[in-house]
Amino acid sequence: MIRNGAFSSIKHLFVITIILFFGTFAFAQKQGNPLILQEMSWTDVEEYLKTCDMVIIPLGSTEQHGPHMPLGTDYYEAMGMSKLISARTGVVVAPVLLAGYSVYHSGFPGTLSLKPETMEQVLFETAEMLMKYGFKRFMFFNYHGGNYVVESKVIHRINHTTEAIAVAIGAGSPIQRGRYQEKHEVQDEHAGIGETSMMLYLKPGLVKMERAKKSKMTYNEKLQELWMLSQKHPELGMVFNALRGVPVETKKGGASHELSSNGIWSLSDPKMATKERGEKQVKGMASYAVKFIEAWKKTKK
Ligand SMILES: [Zn+2]
Repeated sequence: MIRNGAFSSIKHLFVITIILFFGTFAFAQKQGNPLILQEMSWTDVEEYLKTCDMVIIPLGSTEQHGPHMPLGTDYYEAMGMSKLISARTGVVVAPVLLAGYSVYHSGFPGTLSLKPETMEQVLFETAEMLMKYGFKRFMFFNYHGGNYVVESKVIHRINHTTEAIAVAIGAGSPIQRGRYQEKHEVQDEHAGIGETSMMLYLKPGLVKMERAKKSKMTYNEKLQELWMLSQKHPELGMVFNALRGVPVETKKGGASHELSSNGIWSLSDPKMATKERGEKQVKGMASYAVKFIEAWKKTKK
C-alpha cells in the first residue's frame, strides 16, 4: 500500500509537472506572438485592458511600388514592424486602414487614396471607440510619406480634445534615430533599394525581382533648377520637396508618373536590394519603438 501510494504520488507529481511544463510553454509561445485586435475576442480585449491601456495603429498605403512590388508594400511594412513590436512588448495592434493619402501615385493603376480629412476622421473615430473601452495611450506607426500630415493632425486632435495621449513611433518620429541607407543608395526614396530590401525580408513571396529595373527619373526645368541650386543652398531643398509628390492637377510636374518612368523614385538600381539590408531596418525601427514603449510603460498611467 505504501509503495503503491508512493507510486501514485509520483505519478501525480509527474502529471502535474507535465501540465505545468506545457502550460508555461503555451503561455511563453503566446507571449512571443503579436496581438492583433481583429484576431482577439471581446473577452481577450477585456482581459488585456486589465493590465495595459496601449494600442498601436499602423499607417501605410495601397499605392504603386514599381513593377516589382505589391501595391500594399507600405501597409505590409507598417504592419510587419508593428507586429514585431507587439510580439516584443505585448501591446495590441489595431489595423484600421489599408489605404493612405497617395493621390499623386494615381498615374499608375491600382493606387488607392483617401483624402487627408477622410483619413483623419476615420482614425479619430476609431480612437474614440477604443477610448470607450479603456485604451488611453495611442501609438501610430506610419510608414508612408503621404500620411505625415494626417498622422500629426490626428495625434494633435487626440491630445487636445480627449483625455487620451497619442504619439508617433514610426518613420519620422523623433524616437527613430537609425540610419539604414547604404552608400550606393542615391536619392533612394520610394520602391527602391531600401523598400525592396524590406519587402525581401517581410514578404519575399510578393517581390518579383526579375521585374526590378532602374527607373528613368525626369525633372522638369523648374525642378532641375531647384535641384541644382539646392546643392549650393540646401535650404532650397525645402522648395524642391514641396514640388514633388503632389497631384498632377497642381501642374508642378511632381506627380509620381511625371517624375519616374516605372514608379520607382531612386537613382540607384533596385536589383541591389538584399534581405539583410531589409532585416536591419525592420528590426532596427522596431527596436527603437520597443525601447520607447518599455520606458513609457514605467511612467504613471
Ligand atoms: Zn513605400
